[in-house]
Amino acid sequence: MDRLQQLYREVILEHSRRPRNFRRLHAPARCADGINQLCGDRLRLCVNGDGARIDEAAFEGAGCAISIASASLLTEAVAGRTCDDALALADRLEQALSGTAPEDLGALEALCGVRAFPTRIRCATLAWRALRAALHGETRPVSTERAPNTPDTRTWTKTSHDVRPDQ
Ligand SMILES: [Zn+2]
Repeated sequence: MDRLQQLYREVILEHSRRPRNFRRLHAPARCADGINQLCGDRLRLCVNGDGARIDEAAFEGAGCAISIASASLLTEAVAGRTCDDALALADRLEQALSGTAPEDLGALEALCGVRAFPTRIRCATLAWRALRAALHGETRPVSTERAPNTPDTRTWTKTSHDVRPDQ
C-alpha cells in the first residue's frame, strides 16, 4: 500500500467513526441537501456566516464511510474561509479527484486516495456539491449524477438483445 492509500485509509476510518461537526445548524444558516443515489448517501450541509465568510459548517445525514469522512473534513476545512475561497477549494478538490490538478490540498489530500476506487468518487464529492448549493442558495437537492456544467452525454442506443439473429 502506498503512502496516499495508507493516509486515505487512516483518515477515512477516523473521520467516519468520529465525524466532526455532525450536528444541526439553525437559521439563519444556509443549508443544502445532497444525494448520491449510486451509493445511497444522503446528507444536509449547513453553513453559518456573514454572507462573505463562513464561520462554521456542520452536517447531518447517513452514508458510507467515504461520504461521512469527506463531509467531516469539509466542515473543518471551510470554517473561517471566505465563501469564494471555499468554492475554489471545492473546485480544486473535484479536479484532484478526477486527476487533473496537483494534490496541494492539505488535510484533504487523503480524499485523493479515492481515485483508486472510481465508483466512490461521488461519495467523496457529495458534501462539496452540497456546499456549493448552500453557498449559491439553491433549494433543490443536489445529486452527484452529473458533474456541474457537464452535459448529459448518455444517449439511448439499441442494444444487442433487441436483435435476435437465431430466431
Ligand atoms: Zn458512498
